[in-house]
Amino acid sequence: MADQIILRHVTKKFTTKTLGDIVAVDDFNLEVHEGECFSFLGPSGCGKSTTLRMIAGFEDLTEGEIELCGRLVSSRAKNLYVPPEERGLGMVFQAFAVWPHMNVFENVAFPLRIQKVNRTDLERRVNEALRHTSLTGLETTFPSDLSGGQQQRIALARAIVTNPKVMLLDEPLSNLDPKLRETMRFEIKALQRKFNFTIIFVTHDQSEAMAISDRMMVCDMGRIMQIDTPENLYNKPCNRFVHNFLGESTFINVVIRDGKVYASGDMEQAIALDIPKDAAPEMVVATRPNEIALTGPDQGGYRTHVEKRIFLTDRTEYLVPVGDQMVKIQTPHRISFSEGEACCVKFMEPMWYPMDDKQAELERARRQLV
Ligand code: ATP
Repeated sequence: MADQIILRHVTKKFTTKTLGDIVAVDDFNLEVHEGECFSFLGPSGCGKSTTLRMIAGFEDLTEGEIELCGRLVSSRAKNLYVPPEERGLGMVFQAFAVWPHMNVFENVAFPLRIQKVNRTDLERRVNEALRHTSLTGLETTFPSDLSGGQQQRIALARAIVTNPKVMLLDEPLSNLDPKLRETMRFEIKALQRKFNFTIIFVTHDQSEAMAISDRMMVCDMGRIMQIDTPENLYNKPCNRFVHNFLGESTFINVVIRDGKVYASGDMEQAIALDIPKDAAPEMVVATRPNEIALTGPDQGGYRTHVEKRIFLTDRTEYLVPVGDQMVKIQTPHRISFSEGEACCVKFMEPMWYPMDDKQAELERARRQLV
């Protein structure tokens, strides 16, 4: 598969009045393959939109270069900058970016009118785009008379009408209710199969990204944390941040002494775990709440008790003390313990990470103030 979007050492710095310099995007290197659906995922302020805007050409680079479909479109070193309208991209952004004074047909026809496409071709292509987005019959309707989902479909139709090779979608579903979001997700994937474009999808919603993507980039504070398939990101997160960002996490601070693992606050009872080779004396053990076995007190494991039990629709949740920490465990309903009951816990194939990076927490908080 050819690489259709390539970022090499892309960096973007902003100077803000209150906080001075912010490195919004710090040395991004990535390749998106032809026909791939690739998501940018991360918390607010991590640099997703800035990266997308640089690819689109709305934002210049502080350093690095960007290649689209084999053509250099931005390069700091070569002082090269191709404007957005010459990059051949389809774009759909968060706000319903449809023109209220134009009817559905004219909204979708707009990019073709700019390109001076002749009338016959224009009508044929607009009608085709409307058909693929289930808008046929609404040609003369104005956006204000349509639902949020239909308005977002207009934006999609307008993006596909030029038959772009690359589609940039920046939180395109965020204004829609959850059911409609799911439907639109399928529609976007169906359109992609039909027209075979490459998608970059920006979102801070991890389940949405996992559902739609072939691969994803998780970033935090302007840095790429990990690029991988949804499955690998979930099962083998490279650090604590990614672990916590994708799905629910349970972290336990542990101390390693004489080849044994102890939960902090309890140096009496060891936890049976294989210690990784490069482990420091203090580490964090990470697991998912549904990957901790909760068993009777004589069945082996770390002996403790159930502090709290919460019955939910599809599972039961328990809070169980391990050393001086409270661990969340989720089990199917058939595993039932009452509050105060003695139990044992076993951690199944956890990940190991270094202790907290306090500096990262401070920087994350600082950025949220910008
Ligand atoms: P969100 O999900 O909230 O849109 P994001 O991950 O897309 O967040 P960006 O919008 O790319 O994040 O912003 C990254 C960082 O750059 C933030 O700290 C932001 O405050 C800063 N930033 C973005 N645009 C500007 C600007 N024009 N001037 C100054 N700082 C900016």
